[in-house]
Amino acid sequence: MQLQENISLAPLTTFRIGGPARFFVEAKSHAEVEEAVAFSRARDLPIFVLGAGSNLLVADSGWPGLVLKVAIPGIEQSGHNDEGKALFRVGAGESWDRFVSHAVAAQCAGVECLSGIPGSVGGTPVQNVGAYGQEVAETIDSVEVFDRRAGQVRELCREACGFAYRSSIFNTSERERFIILRVAYALIPGGEPRVAYADLQRHFAGRETRPNLAETREAVRHIRGLKGMLITPGDPDSQSAGSFFKNPVLSSEQHAELEKRAAARRLTIPAYPALEKFKKVSAAWLVEHSGFVRGYGSGQAGISSKHTLAIVNRGGATADAVLALKTEIEQRVEEIWGVTLEPEPVMVGFCS
Ligand SMILES: Cc1cc2nc3c(=O)[nH]c(=O)nc-3n(C[C@H](O)[C@H](O)[C@H](O)COP(=O)(O)OP(=O)(O)OC[C@H]3O[C@@H](n4cnc5c(N)ncnc54)[C@H](O)[C@@H]3O)c2cc1C
Repeated sequence: MQLQENISLAPLTTFRIGGPARFFVEAKSHAEVEEAVAFSRARDLPIFVLGAGSNLLVADSGWPGLVLKVAIPGIEQSGHNDEGKALFRVGAGESWDRFVSHAVAAQCAGVECLSGIPGSVGGTPVQNVGAYGQEVAETIDSVEVFDRRAGQVRELCREACGFAYRSSIFNTSERERFIILRVAYALIPGGEPRVAYADLQRHFAGRETRPNLAETREAVRHIRGLKGMLITPGDPDSQSAGSFFKNPVLSSEQHAELEKRAAARRLTIPAYPALEKFKKVSAAWLVEHSGFVRGYGSGQAGISSKHTLAIVNRGGATADAVLALKTEIEQRVEEIWGVTLEPEPVMVGFCS
């Protein structure tokens, strides 16, 4: 294990924001993960587990303990499960999009709509990443973890991971307990791509033949690029943590109240099948109808010029500036719509 000190975290995140880590280890094997955990325990240091830093806002003061970057590599195709699906065991440190590209080239369906999502394989189960009509919970077979409480490596089956919309046990009930080492995905060999999402259907409208997996992957990446949701070097709109707010879940009473407020403004709450399934309303719609437009903000932190839900670092923004904008948006949405927005990125190193 190679221990480093005072490592700047900003370049290790897609936001490019954040102070230093007191200690830093990049672990390429599970033995190194265990060693790093033992080091932090011996010194009573808090650990933060880092993937590719694409869903984080790191405080300007950094992290006072150990940042453990999980960099375990490897994509291994390892037979089939009982349902005849092809199993891929992938190291948590692999790039997620590299794995999607690998699966598509192997003609295996199940993750093609998740093309272009930044981050590591180990990050995908944490918030059950999803986009364009797919989420990883549908294809995860099992997750190999280091259990910090028991001090041993374990395999969790899909059911044990408690997947729901943007959540799992890893970011709720068992937060900080498990370090993800490997994820096994079960994909459909020779399967058809899923072209269910409206944006994708529009993209392929007028075509006589069904798109294949590779075409679907390219279409998703293209659409993501137009929204600044693909990491594109040099594009300040992709210097973000993706969508900054989750789509809020409302009770029927809250939904009725929201509709009343919308009607008073001669507006209708848009209904999207993908959101209705989870009884959610569009956070982007709420933000847009609270006076925030694309490109909002004159400072170094502002709203993306391509997507109202992304807060971007236009260069040199501090975490405090991002938080100030976040609070402004939350307050205005609450005031106008009576809805509390919840941030999606993980806040690292802020005093709670
Ligand atoms: C431009 C852009 C677009 C995005 N689009 C989407 C999208 O369409 N859908 C979507 O769901 N998300 C999206 N995201 C968010 C992000 O890409 C995902 O959440 C991604 O899976 C995070 O992975 P990561 O490796 O970067 O994790 P990090 O950001 O490094 O960490 C995120 C959380 O996961 C934990 N974690 C990471 N690795 C491990 C591990 N090995 N073991 C235990 N815990 C771990 C961290 O402790 C932290 O709590 C987007 C982000 C950006 C910047």
